[in-house]
Amino acid sequence: MSGRWPLHWRILFGLVVGTAAGITANVAAGGAPWLSSIIDHATEPFGRLFLRLIFMVVLPLVFSALVLGVAGLGDIGRLGRIGAKTFAYTILASGLSVALGLTLVNGLRPGAGLPAETRAALTGYAIRGPAVTSADAPVGLQAVVAIVPENPVRAAVNGDMLAVMFFSLMLGLGLALAPRETVAPLIAVLEALYAVVMQVIDLAMRLAPYGVACLLFTLTARLGAGILRQLASYVAVVLLGLAIHQFGTYALVVRFLGGMSPRLFFRRIRAVMITAFSTSSSNVTLPLALTVTERNLGVPREIANFVLTLGSTANQNGTALFEGVTVLFLAQFYGVDLSLQSQLVVVLMSILAGVGTAGVPGGSLPLIVPVLVTVGVPAEGIGIIFGVDRLLDMCRTVLNVSGDIAAAVVVARSEGALTVPLLVPEAE
Ligand code: ASP
Repeated sequence: MSGRWPLHWRILFGLVVGTAAGITANVAAGGAPWLSSIIDHATEPFGRLFLRLIFMVVLPLVFSALVLGVAGLGDIGRLGRIGAKTFAYTILASGLSVALGLTLVNGLRPGAGLPAETRAALTGYAIRGPAVTSADAPVGLQAVVAIVPENPVRAAVNGDMLAVMFFSLMLGLGLALAPRETVAPLIAVLEALYAVVMQVIDLAMRLAPYGVACLLFTLTARLGAGILRQLASYVAVVLLGLAIHQFGTYALVVRFLGGMSPRLFFRRIRAVMITAFSTSSSNVTLPLALTVTERNLGVPREIANFVLTLGSTANQNGTALFEGVTVLFLAQFYGVDLSLQSQLVVVLMSILAGVGTAGVPGGSLPLIVPVLVTVGVPAEGIGIIFGVDRLLDMCRTVLNVSGDIAAAVVVARSEGALTVPLLVPEAE
């Protein structure tokens, strides 16, 4: 594997090699002592090592990303009505996208269908977080009370990620409301913490091609090729959900709330969609999105600047949908039954994860871990997703960016400030 290949190609290569070798080993020598010994003493520990390098920084990542994400919303207050509209749009659109994703997974069940003995073998090997099982989970109002930690440090130590997220949210709110000069040093420290954590994840990701190869080898050598069907169905369901939200929900939103023809909308933001797809990064696409929204769609600069900048980190519908689908898929895959309440927790945490995710390639992957842990699905499941993530990332980034532009159109229209320019010939 040449070091000059982009990382996502090397990870895909790892997936293919690990899977092919694993299936071959399973067919040729499934259950043989030497194969079990290779799995137990080499591929499985190495795969786990790679995952643990990422798990280890999830706590500081969730904390710093959410505090900064919410503190950044501080501008909302300053922009008054526009801020409130953007915020409401973000929550509604993200909620809708996760709900769509969950409906698809519940209906199509991409993770179901593993033979009972395969599933038993799978769960036998899984590492689970200190999750609440449905038997001891608080219900009703008690569940709401349980989200607010009495002691945030204890919540962190116990792996109670929902409570940690709530604490981070409140801290972010406090930061947004406190005088800027006073809290600037704390924001700087959190920004530094965030940068360091991202760096550590970057280092860990260098091992990803080997880690993914080992994880997939372990899975397929033990369980055979059966699991590939589930993986393919999962990819199909994510893509279906993204397509419905992109060309269904956004078309309706643009038509009825933005008063604009969806055809015109999609045609005029084509260049942005292509850039988002090829870079997998909302941040990198932001400058082009700003120009296009202003020039091609006639959104005033102040509104475009505000809504798109905020949206590039907070309004991530594609990411939220992807997170929801992934958690439910893995639950089905591992045979974990998620109650309605747990699914609501998934919706809530996926919306929050959308707010906390950086607009960079693969930004949302580590943030799936706290959701998995909270609802009791083995967190190592993300090892299965890594190999196929790049394609999903490219597509969900298109949704993330298009959603921000749709939001800008809706907000501008509601302010009576939308003047769609005639473009001849139509600019890209
Ligand atoms: N790549 C996505 C973005 O930049 C974030 C993610 O879901 O990983 O919008």
